[in-house]
Amino acid sequence: MSRKIYQNLIDGEWVDSESGNTFENLNPADTREVIGTFQRSGRGDVERAVEAAKRAFHRWRLTPAPRRAEILLRATQLLEARKEEYARDMTREMGKVLQETRGDVQEAIDTGYYFAGEGRRLFGATTPSELPNKFAMTVRAPLGVCGMITPWNFPMAIPSWKLFPALVCGNTCVIKPAEDTPLSCTNLVRTLVDAGVPRGVVNLVTGPGSEVGTAITSHPDVRAVSFTGSTEVGRKVGEAAAGSFKHCSLEMGGKNPIIILDDANLDLALDGALWAGFGTSGQRCTAASRIIVQKGVYAEFLGRLVERAGTLRVGNGLDESTEMGPQINRQQVETSARYVEVGRKEGAKMLCGGERFGDDARRHGWFFQPTVFGEVERGMRIAQEEIFGPVVSVMACNDLDDAVAIANDVVYGLSSSIYTRDVNHAFRAMRDLHAGITYVNAPTIGAEVHLPFGGTKATGNGHREGGMGAIEFYTEWKTLYIDYSDRLQRAQIDRPE
Ligand code: NAD
Repeated sequence: MSRKIYQNLIDGEWVDSESGNTFENLNPADTREVIGTFQRSGRGDVERAVEAAKRAFHRWRLTPAPRRAEILLRATQLLEARKEEYARDMTREMGKVLQETRGDVQEAIDTGYYFAGEGRRLFGATTPSELPNKFAMTVRAPLGVCGMITPWNFPMAIPSWKLFPALVCGNTCVIKPAEDTPLSCTNLVRTLVDAGVPRGVVNLVTGPGSEVGTAITSHPDVRAVSFTGSTEVGRKVGEAAAGSFKHCSLEMGGKNPIIILDDANLDLALDGALWAGFGTSGQRCTAASRIIVQKGVYAEFLGRLVERAGTLRVGNGLDESTEMGPQINRQQVETSARYVEVGRKEGAKMLCGGERFGDDARRHGWFFQPTVFGEVERGMRIAQEEIFGPVVSVMACNDLDDAVAIANDVVYGLSSSIYTRDVNHAFRAMRDLHAGITYVNAPTIGAEVHLPFGGTKATGNGHREGGMGAIEFYTEWKTLYIDYSDRLQRAQIDRPE
């Protein structure tokens, strides 16, 4: 079977990388399967893409926002029609189960509909002037060329969170997807092209972060960088962007807690913990990798969690009965295995899992067993560091105050959750958990696209994706004063009666 070759999109043309170099995209459930060959681009490709985006900006910013939105609407309708095909592509390149990849495409669809509506809003404000016969208002202006760098775990949803709001606001884009999942972003960009996005408005450049990513973050003509990925890389992106005063949005790692109090509905909490701990094989920025359980229900909860984790069906995500797929690549499996060792050495009790699956059906993929540690102490590395694998740490707490203190005692602050039937406990947790998102009686995952998404501390630098937060990021305010008095009026100095 001939291998499919995918190209960059630069200035409306599908093209090879300047160097002609390529890389292979492998199926993590069976690495013998090559999903496709993609362009291994470099700085020169980024420069051409930025040049094209700069040229396209002059017209795109003047295209009325409702017209821009119509293109987004058409793209979204195409995504809807292609949902199953793109979900299958995503499961093949990324590994997560079909139900989840359908959800990932659906998230892009929801985002498309939301921001298509924004084309007829993009509201500014009018406000009275302090002077007579003078009018004051604010309008939103686009930024120019926006660079976007995305991770592999939500390979279509995250690019859509960035592209759709940037485009409706009148910006042009250069996007670089993760090396492990370039196909889903290519599929998204293809729908925009098919929907009629003008040439140069969206450019796609695939390749390594060390070359394509750095070329974007250091390019003087890129006015904004939106990055989602690890905290380690995010720090570098932030530093590079600061050099030319780019707007810079960083969405990074997490170590998200679920608190389960004695008065919780334990069945519900158990379902939530399994979904948040092992969904996407623990490879979500919002995955619950710490479960903090009050002493009265700790033993019962832990026993039931271990039992359920041990029976999860782990396999190829294309099989509808599979509950958990593989990890993305060798490095992620090795990270999980390394943290299992760390946890053991630190004295935590490993209660199930802990190894790669070695049977015939799974030895060609990156499958790691659902793993649960009990007796985890808050200072242990497995309770502090992001593992990004199916490894869950269960910790005991005395009461709500103790639980919140443990929950907040990490460098990250993305998502958090509490299971309780006491409304007072719920409200105190909502107030005191230091995270961008708190769920009550629901797990740490489940964000909806019209609400702000992002985190505190080492998770983010204060911006939010989703809903209005994205519009704030992709525009800047212009303040307009219109004086129709026909004379010089001095603010603060002339003070009419
Ligand atoms: P990563 O940081 O390794 O890579 C992210 C992207 O950055 C990739 O496209 C990569 O090629 C690029 N990159 C690498 N080095 C670069 C550099 N020096 N300059 C510019 N770009 C560079 O992350 P990953 O492994 O793809 O994704 C997993 C991480 O993403 C986890 O830490 C997870 O928590 C985080 N994540 C966060 C969110 C969120 O919204 N907070 C969402 C999803 C994933």
